[in-house]
Amino acid sequence: MTSPGGLAEAIAAESASGTAPLPGAIEGPAAVAAAHAEAVDREGRFPAEAIAALRQAGRLGMLVPAAMGGPGGTLADAVRDCFAVARGCGSAGMVLAMHHSQMACLVAHAGDAAWPREYLARAVRDGLLLASVTSEEGVGGNLRRSLCAPEPAAADDPDQRAHLVKRATNISYGAHASALLLSARRAPDAAEADQVLWLLGPDDYRLERTGGWETMGMRGTRSEAFVVRARAGAEQALSTGFGSIATETMTPVTHILWAGLWIGIAADALDRARAAVKGKLRKSGGSAAGAPGTPRLAAATERLLAAEALLASALRRYGEPGSAQSREMRPAEVNMLKTAVSEATLDAVGQCLIAAGLAGYRVDGAHALSRHLRDLWSAPLMVPNDAIRAASATLMLGPRPQLGRFL
Ligand SMILES: Cc1cc2nc3c(=O)[nH]c(=O)nc-3n(C[C@H](O)[C@H](O)[C@H](O)COP(=O)(O)OP(=O)(O)OC[C@H]3O[C@@H](n4cnc5c(N)ncnc54)[C@H](O)[C@@H]3O)c2cc1C
Repeated sequence: MTSPGGLAEAIAAESASGTAPLPGAIEGPAAVAAAHAEAVDREGRFPAEAIAALRQAGRLGMLVPAAMGGPGGTLADAVRDCFAVARGCGSAGMVLAMHHSQMACLVAHAGDAAWPREYLARAVRDGLLLASVTSEEGVGGNLRRSLCAPEPAAADDPDQRAHLVKRATNISYGAHASALLLSARRAPDAAEADQVLWLLGPDDYRLERTGGWETMGMRGTRSEAFVVRARAGAEQALSTGFGSIATETMTPVTHILWAGLWIGIAADALDRARAAVKGKLRKSGGSAAGAPGTPRLAAATERLLAAEALLASALRRYGEPGSAQSREMRPAEVNMLKTAVSEATLDAVGQCLIAAGLAGYRVDGAHALSRHLRDLWSAPLMVPNDAIRAASATLMLGPRPQLGRFL
């Protein structure tokens, strides 16, 4: 769909004016995201303009295959979009990544079921935004535990749909979504880890806001707390258990898309730091070799190229959502992509800040890096890296890591 626009390529292609070209049809929405990024961050509001532009450009349904009524974009296409949008606005990039990760779950696990397939066709046509409801009070941030369970309707209830009530601690852009993918126990007597995913359409649920989103970064994601009250027919629960969906699709796709958007945020920080260093150099008339800040720029670029190499390798190993290949990727590798890229990008932006000096430390001006740093601090703590590493520690004692497969 689009031409590749990786970090290394984007840096190499940077024009003399200091701005980098963005790939194909994503260029317009990415520019809209960038134009509104400061206001979205300052006001802590949903990036409505960017999402409308993505909808208009037909990018929200990009992962839906042609056989299901979509354009048939690849996961790499979605990563490039997240990169390009996040380069302008981290919050808009995160909204896009979360939406694509949920769409990927539907695409990979809808099977022949009519309801999710009809939803996907409609989502492409109308540009519907899909949100994730895995978080819940009382499960300690563990995706693989649910307390919420469907209550069957009473025998004399004319509406024979089940009731679901979930007290979610965070639903990104919950108030702005058209549909939800919600994890719940299979039945009232099921174990907490025996979960299924429910697809709730616009008319199936109500949200009651129970907590706000006054955070230091990712302010535009509006990841507020809500009680979700839903009524849904049995056909709205995906037939594949959530354990398999989480392992095969939700977690790997989310980590891959997050990596793309985090690198996008850091790529913009690097552009800004480079511009700041070049500006100082012009004023002082010195040579690039001895310019203060350049070793930090080099260190930041090293981190980002390494992060991008990890992402490229993960994409190659994973393939497409729902493919046989995707089921073979090891959970430890999926986890390590997340922990490594979240920390590498944050560290890279720290290096950029030191390179830019006060121009980057200011919260205003073309070289300001505050938003980038604040947005990226969400990376190691959204699904905490310590918890992921604790899980990986157990996995490390299983099959040995696949080292030596360089290409
Ligand atoms: C920007 C953003 C968007 C989000 N969007 C959504 C969304 O759309 N839908 C959704 O459902 N959720 C969403 N979440 C919530 C997310 O899925 C997690 O539930 C949340 O990040 C957990 O936060 P917590 O700090 O309360 O985690 P906790 O699990 O309570 O962890 C708190 C701290 O305890 C430590 N810790 C926890 N477990 C372990 C362990 N096993 N070993 C060692 N240390 C541990 C870690 O240091 C961690 O930082 C979002 C979060 C963010 C930041």
